[in-house]
Amino acid sequence: MNYKKISIAAVTAGMFAAGSAFAQTAEIGTWSGFRKGAASFTFDDGAPSHVTDAGPTFKKYGYKATFNLVVNWNPNWSGFQGLADEGHEIASHSNTHGQNMSGEEASSKKAIEGKIKQKYGIITVAYPNCNVPNESAVKQNYIVGRICNGSWKGMGDEMGKDGPSNWAQVPATMTGAEGQLKSTNDFTGRMQKVIQSNGWAAFLTHGFQGKQNGNANYSPTDLNAIDGALKWAQQNDKDIWVAPMGHVAMYLKERKASKVEASSSGGNITVKLTHNIADNISKYDYPLSIRVKFDGSKAEVKQGDAKLESKIDGGYIYFDAVPNAGDIVISGGEAPKPESSSSVEATSSSATEASSSSRSHHHSSSSTEPGLSSATEALPMQAIDGRHLVAYVDASGYITVQNAQGLNITVFNSLGNVVRTTKGIGMLQKVYTGAKGMYVVKIGNRAWTMNIK
Ligand SMILES: [Zn+2]
Repeated sequence: MNYKKISIAAVTAGMFAAGSAFAQTAEIGTWSGFRKGAASFTFDDGAPSHVTDAGPTFKKYGYKATFNLVVNWNPNWSGFQGLADEGHEIASHSNTHGQNMSGEEASSKKAIEGKIKQKYGIITVAYPNCNVPNESAVKQNYIVGRICNGSWKGMGDEMGKDGPSNWAQVPATMTGAEGQLKSTNDFTGRMQKVIQSNGWAAFLTHGFQGKQNGNANYSPTDLNAIDGALKWAQQNDKDIWVAPMGHVAMYLKERKASKVEASSSGGNITVKLTHNIADNISKYDYPLSIRVKFDGSKAEVKQGDAKLESKIDGGYIYFDAVPNAGDIVISGGEAPKPESSSSVEATSSSATEASSSSRSHHHSSSSTEPGLSSATEALPMQAIDGRHLVAYVDASGYITVQNAQGLNITVFNSLGNVVRTTKGIGMLQKVYTGAKGMYVVKIGNRAWTMNIK
C-alpha cells in the first residue's frame, strides 16, 4: 500500500494492547469517500432558472448544490423545496439584499426555515454584495458565512483541507461575465488544483446566459460551462467530492473534531467514532468516511441496528458512519475451515493477494514451520506504528510482518519462550504459525501481543 497516495486526516495508530482486545488502525478520510479534494457550487438570488435549469443539470450528473435565497424577493418556494427534497441545500442570502445584511442574520434564517424543510436545516448564509455583516450574529446562526472571491480580501480563492481561517468568511469564486470562471476549463482547472492540494473550492454563480433569471441578473454564466464542469467531475469522481457548502463544512468540522478508535476482540472489530462539538445550529451528524485495516474478504458493518454499506479494498474495509451514533461493529469474516497442511500455503497466498492488490510481497519458504497447525482461523489482527511497521495474524493463522527491513524479529509464546527469531526483510513476511494461543512479537524495540486461533 502506498500510504503517500492516501489522504489521511486522523490516524489512530494501533498500540500495544494487553488482554484480549487489540488496537486497530482506523482513519477518517480527508473528504467523503477518501476523495482528494472538494468542490461546492453555490447559486445566489433565487433565480427562476435555478429551479428550471440548474436543478436538471445537476440531476443529470447526480450532484447537489447550494441555493441562497432572498426572502423578500419571494422566490419559487415550492420549486426550491423540490430541490431540497432532491438533496440540494437551501440557504440564506438575507431578507432584503441590502448593501449589508446586518440585523437580518437570524430573521432570514427563521423565515426560510418556515418555508423550506430539509434534513440539516438552514445552516449557511451568503452575504449580499460580498459585505460581511455582524460576524458574531453569523456564527450564532450558521456554520458558514460566505463571502465572494477570497483574493478580493487578500486571502486565497481556494481553501486547504482545514477549511477557512474564519468560518464567517468562507471564499467562493465568482463565475460568469464579471467573474474569473467562464469556461468549463476554468472550473475544471480549479477542481484539479484542489485535488492536488487536498483542498476545497467553492463557486459563486448568479443566473445563466439566455435564461429566466429574475433578480439574479449580475454576471450571467454559461450553463454549458457548468454542465461541462459537472461532466468532468463525474469522470473524476474518485478524486473530487462535489457537495453543497453546508455538507462539506459539516464534514470538515466533524473530521477535525472527531476521534476514531478501533479494537478487535472475539473476531469482531469495534469502532468508536465520536466528537464533542456542540452548538444550537447543527447536530454535526453528517456521515464521515472511515477505513479500518482488514484482512478478510467478507464483512458486515453495523452501527446500532443500521447496516452500513461497506467495501473491502487493498487491505482495508471502507464505510461511512455518523459520529456519536453508537459503536460500529465489523463482523462476519469468512468462517474458519479446517485445511490440510499442504493447502494452507496456497490459501494464505491467495488471501495475501486479495488483501494487498497493489502491494509487492514475498513468500519466505523458511517461514513455514514444521508441525503447523492445520486448523487456523481467519481473524484479522494487526497493528501499525507511525513508521508503517505492520504485524498481524493473517487469514490463515500466520504471524505476518511488513516494513521491518533489517530489524530483529522475535516471537515468544505465552510461557515467554522464544519460538522464532529472524530478520525483517521489508516486504510482507510470514514469520511464524503454530499452536493456538497468545504470542508476543518483538520487532526492533516494539512489541505486539497477538492471538493465533
Ligand atoms: Zn445577491
